[in-house]
Amino acid sequence: MSSLANNYNRRKISFKYGKGSFLYSTTGKKYLDFVQGIAVNSLGHANPYLVKALNNQAKKVWHVSNAFQIPEAEKLAKMLTQKTFADKVIFQNSGAEATEAAIKIARKYFFSIGKLNKNRILCIKNSFHGRTIAAIYASGSTKMTEGYGPKVPGFDHINFRNFKPRFPNLRKKITKNTAAIMVESVMGEGGIKVIPDKCLKYLRKICNEKKILLILDEVQSGIGRSGSFFAFETSKIKPDIVPIAKGIGGGFPIGAVLMTNKVARAMSPGSHGSTFGGNPNACAVGAEVMKQIFKPQFLNNVKKMSDYFYLRLNVISNNYPKIVKEIRGKGLLIGLKLLVDQTKFIKSLEKNYLLTIRAAENVVRILPPLNVKKTEIDLALKIIEKVCKNYK
Ligand SMILES: *Cc1c(COP(=O)(O)O)cnc(C)c1O
Repeated sequence: MSSLANNYNRRKISFKYGKGSFLYSTTGKKYLDFVQGIAVNSLGHANPYLVKALNNQAKKVWHVSNAFQIPEAEKLAKMLTQKTFADKVIFQNSGAEATEAAIKIARKYFFSIGKLNKNRILCIKNSFHGRTIAAIYASGSTKMTEGYGPKVPGFDHINFRNFKPRFPNLRKKITKNTAAIMVESVMGEGGIKVIPDKCLKYLRKICNEKKILLILDEVQSGIGRSGSFFAFETSKIKPDIVPIAKGIGGGFPIGAVLMTNKVARAMSPGSHGSTFGGNPNACAVGAEVMKQIFKPQFLNNVKKMSDYFYLRLNVISNNYPKIVKEIRGKGLLIGLKLLVDQTKFIKSLEKNYLLTIRAAENVVRILPPLNVKKTEIDLALKIIEKVCKNYK
């Protein structure tokens, strides 16, 4: 009998160790891991560069308070600002903390310019911004909020289907109290739904027009997952605030909020904090992830692998139109929308030693490490095809 509470539906496998794209179970089986901790292990399991970075840091300083200078946090923040739209960074420890901090920063910005009534955040219904008490109400999913009332006020919602060019319905949802629009550049948990570049451009335009902030949640889609460092970059727009987490730690828990100087000015000493935020071990690993992702050709290779993967997945989808409805995604954030039962399909893949994970709307998520090899994609395709062929 487990002493862990029952808040997860866990599969009955555990692993002894991992290497790159593979996990080795305690029963001696080898699995191709295309979950990677849900887009967390961006460089695969036991990446030698990350192991070295963590070991080196662990011999020096594990933790110091934010009451002191933290050179490792300075270094990672510098890398993040040099490579992105952002001017400033606040470190957190998880995605939900990062989205919460993003909400706080947006509100504090309007407070700092004397607009105390601008404090509502407009989000997409059934999106995913994490599991803290505010983040579940931001996500607007009754499944996540059930039993956790009273409701946290301050969030408005719009349906994703209204995300089409010119957004007539979105404009109506923005009131004089709206401070920000917060959306995932690619809705991960929601079923790998990509916000098209055209819509992102229009979102930016509306936010400028209404003088509100644009928060793009890149917790799942960021850090090279989409083929660009951030998924929104293909649209050429600049958001105001971007929460990140998952992939930046390569498996080590870390989150952060990236922001422009304009909003960062609202954050004065004492206005926000986190005991572990900026932890030297986490930041040392994060800096190594950045270093690897920005090696020449790395992101190009993500795009190349992803183009190949989609091409071949679309062939499977065409060959099995009664099983796979469509292939969705951006980069190596991939979803198979199924016409058959998701759970059964995922179980069949697992029986053939390919690990994948569910998303909403009957989608199977495929999340290889960003340094996945073509031969590993071929292996996954072979398994997916076999499962489609034998599906009953
Ligand atoms: C996973 C996720 C979060 C929450 O991250 P946690 O680390 O689980 O708190 C927030 N936003 C998005 C888009 C995510 O995918």
